[in-house]
Amino acid sequence: QQKLELIKEAVKSYPDFPVPGVNFKDLFSVLQNPPIFAILNEILVKTAKQIQPAVECVVGLESRGFLLAPLIALELQIPFVPIRKKGKLPGKVKSHKYALEYGQDIVEIQEGAIKPNEKVLIVDDLLATGGTLNAACQLISQVGGNVASCLIVIELLDLKGRDKVSSPISSLIQY
Ligand code: IMP
Repeated sequence: QQKLELIKEAVKSYPDFPVPGVNFKDLFSVLQNPPIFAILNEILVKTAKQIQPAVECVVGLESRGFLLAPLIALELQIPFVPIRKKGKLPGKVKSHKYALEYGQDIVEIQEGAIKPNEKVLIVDDLLATGGTLNAACQLISQVGGNVASCLIVIELLDLKGRDKVSSPISSLIQY
């Protein structure tokens, strides 16, 4: 709990970024502080190892999920798989379209990256409205994977993002 407080203190907030009214939480400030980054990594790995039955693959969400998910995957000696916005992944991909407040977006995963029924852990830096995480869950189900759990560093409680997601979610720090 004390360790989580240290991480929370290290997360910088940027009021009115990228648009007025948003208080942007920046995980990069944690990565610039090696002792705190080490604590964060230790907690993420420990949490991932505790999931039962054991996860078989770690999916990171573009873009800050990519900073954390590979570290967990390496420690657990299981594959890291990226989910990206449309048009960024090479080769054959599977897509999932989802609604935004204004308009829509598409997330993609490489074909064959997830094995049938594979138990997947999704990792991202921040849960806001839950739209991104829900889209990732849908995409993984669509390609035959099984979202065992989602691991998020920062959860913005007011936005109730977890209500949108049917898979279990653990968040380390909350605002
Ligand atoms: P959601 O789809 O509204 O839950 O937004 C979550 C996604 O947007 C995550 O992939 C985050 O990286 C990004 N995001 C939203 N708000 C913030 C923020 O305050 N700081 C950093 N990333 C954010």
